[in-house]
Amino acid sequence: MSARGTYPDPKAGIMQIALYQGGLSALQGHQNPIKLSSNENPFGPSPKARAAIEAAAVDMHRYPDTGHTALRAAIGALHGLDPDRIICGVGSDEVIQFLCHAFAGQGDEVLFTEHGFAMYRICALMVGATPVEVPEADFRVDIDAVIAGITPRTRLVFIANPANPTGTFLSHEELTRLADAIPPNCLLVIDAAYAEFVDGYDGGASLATERDNVVMTRTFSKLYGLGGLRVGWGYGAKGLIEILTRLRQPFNLSTLALAGAEAAIADQDFAQNSVRINNAERDTLTRGLRDLGIKVSDSEANFILARFEDEATADAADAFFKSRGIIVRAPKSYKIPHGLRITIGRPEDNVHVLAAMRAFRGAE
Ligand code: PMP
Repeated sequence: MSARGTYPDPKAGIMQIALYQGGLSALQGHQNPIKLSSNENPFGPSPKARAAIEAAAVDMHRYPDTGHTALRAAIGALHGLDPDRIICGVGSDEVIQFLCHAFAGQGDEVLFTEHGFAMYRICALMVGATPVEVPEADFRVDIDAVIAGITPRTRLVFIANPANPTGTFLSHEELTRLADAIPPNCLLVIDAAYAEFVDGYDGGASLATERDNVVMTRTFSKLYGLGGLRVGWGYGAKGLIEILTRLRQPFNLSTLALAGAEAAIADQDFAQNSVRINNAERDTLTRGLRDLGIKVSDSEANFILARFEDEATADAADAFFKSRGIIVRAPKSYKIPHGLRITIGRPEDNVHVLAAMRAFRGAE
């Protein structure tokens, strides 16, 4: 019997998990708030993805394809990757979970950085491993600190590139230097959830092609506007993907999820239009906020991190946004209490964001 009740104690680490905090989506008193809190595509998914999901609904009594054959083929064709080296998950979150399950356990360390994405710690604790956090330098992954943090017990190193919630980016040369320092009994996971927003960046695919101990994770939740559908994928050595596949439930992706993701990836016109608008709007918003004396790191993603003088000012700015029906994200749990992460919205949303911050600065 457990001290908590008439059931056994959970395995080590589980009760240390702090539940993942999603972005707020509703605001009292605002029928249609501008939701800029979860790095979603403000234009939604491609209409073709929506139509494919509707069409697939008639087949809901059928089990989906357990091998995700068509989706992996489509991903492989777009990115020039071998489909046998791709695994699909219920969001890239599930791929992160597979990696922790397969490669880390009690006594092992899972390394990530100071402002790193929350799921790395959660999944490390889920499998009983020890989460290890190393400092960043000026809101950017510090490769030397990561390398210094690797011990003989380190099994996984998670780096998001671009990073969330900072938006900052490591060049291919920097990533290669990091990959060079990863011992053979350790995996470097390049979480490339926001890769599509970076011109000319392969998400770390070439590193994962060349090296058995580098894995890349990707998602349909950001650029493709399918966060609610839950589709992500990972790419790595064939043998490594076969290991992860043993942990995957055979029907983890539903018929609807497969249909939606296949149609979304086929509509590159929609996707590239979203990238073009995002990147132009991101530059406008960054400049506009900097003109108001707000610090903004150079972002390569679909959000920016605005940093205020102190936590109280960030809280006041957050409240001011809310008063205008705008929901952003306060990254307090990411150790940035003086920051607000703002997803790049539609051009008209961003006009509201800038107007709000001008009024806030004037009203301070
Ligand atoms: N990695 C990073 C860096 C993220 O920001 C997110 C989403 N917040 C994910 C992974 C997980 O996304 P999903 O599970 O929706 O693919």
